[in-house]
Amino acid sequence: MLERKPMIAGNWKMNLSYTQAENLIKSIAEGIEGLEGVDILVAPPFTHLAHVRQAMGNSRIFLAGQNMHWEMSGAYTGEISGRMLQEATCTHVILGHSERRIIFKETSEMIDLKVRAASFLSLIPILCVGETLEQREAGQTFAVIKEQLDLSFQNFRADELMRPSTILAYEPVWAIGTGRTATPDQAEEVHRFIRQWIENNFNTGTAALVRILYGGSVKPENIAELMSQPDIDGALVGGASLKGDSFVQIARYKEG
Ligand code: PEP
Repeated sequence: MLERKPMIAGNWKMNLSYTQAENLIKSIAEGIEGLEGVDILVAPPFTHLAHVRQAMGNSRIFLAGQNMHWEMSGAYTGEISGRMLQEATCTHVILGHSERRIIFKETSEMIDLKVRAASFLSLIPILCVGETLEQREAGQTFAVIKEQLDLSFQNFRADELMRPSTILAYEPVWAIGTGRTATPDQAEEVHRFIRQWIENNFNTGTAALVRILYGGSVKPENIAELMSQPDIDGALVGGASLKGDSFVQIARYKEG
């Protein structure tokens, strides 16, 4: 059976000066030297991408954009296209992060257009889904996740084409930046649900290959337990990705 390679991804959000970003990527590159069997990815702010790529030297760290527009170019002041991300050497793009959905009012329909544009360019989407605390407490978690998946992958479903390289991230909104982590069982239950959704809408082979990351207050102390769950294939890390030592410890979770 083909194994899913774990991925540890850092979302730097709107943080770090140029110099801080350079120092951080250098300490990550040094810290993961010799590490095998884990994919490492960082998503710096757009303006830092080229600099971060240069500063990492020969290190095999994937770069991702934190967002993109669905059009290739045009009159969209303040936006960045997938092609521009590729020119900045990004191979991945985070789409549908809850901060984009909630603060910037991105809808799943908009995210669907972005997923389609990214796939057209062979830019790998890291599609985020997750419920709010209110939704969880009202027993709506699975319905919310299903609706986000249904709407964000409409184009894929029409084409019956989800690439096995596609990455999904389950990020319960109540666990992001709050210090509250979903328990490994709570996370696994939703990851299993997402994998089943892929199987129902695409096929068993794709469901077995797509990586599903967990995000929400991941830190060195909780990563190993989360990663011991069969359907958790990695982590999307916010706060703890801004410090070289904690991000490297998370990346080296197998050694801890
Ligand atoms: C995130 O925003 O994707 C995230 C998971 O943040 P944190 O790790 O800080 O909860």
